[in-house]
Amino acid sequence: MLRILVVEDSPVNMALTVAILENAGHTILQAERAAEGIAIARREPIDLVLMDIQLPDIDGLAATRTLKTDPRTSHLPVIALTAFAMKGDEDDTRAAGCDGYVTKPIRYKEFLAEVDTVLKRSRAARAV
Ligand code: MN
Repeated sequence: MLRILVVEDSPVNMALTVAILENAGHTILQAERAAEGIAIARREPIDLVLMDIQLPDIDGLAATRTLKTDPRTSHLPVIALTAFAMKGDEDDTRAAGCDGYVTKPIRYKEFLAEVDTVLKRSRAARAV
C-alpha cells in the first residue's frame, strides 16, 4: 500500500483516479491546486505524485519542476496526467522531470501498470 498525492482540478477526474487507486489498496491525498499539492508534498510522507498538467494556478509542468528542485521533494516520482495526447506532450513532461505519463481518460489497467513501472524504476534508481 502506497500513499499517493493526486493533484487534479477536475472533480470527475479526481473521483475516477481516487476510486481506481483506493480500489488497488492505496491511500490517497488530494489537492485541487498545484500550490496546495506542493505544500502537501513538502509536509506529508508520500510515495508518489500524480500531477495533472492543466491546473488553475501553476501548471503541472512548473509544479513538477518545483518538486524536482526542492531537496524535500526531489526524490518523489511524478506521473503526469494529461488530457492532451498531442505530439510533444510526453517530451515536455519528461523535460520537466516527470517520471511517467498517463493520458486521460484513464484506462484502469494501463494506469496501474504505469504506476507500478514508475515506482519500480524509482526504487531501483535510489538503490544504486
Ligand atoms: Mn486540469
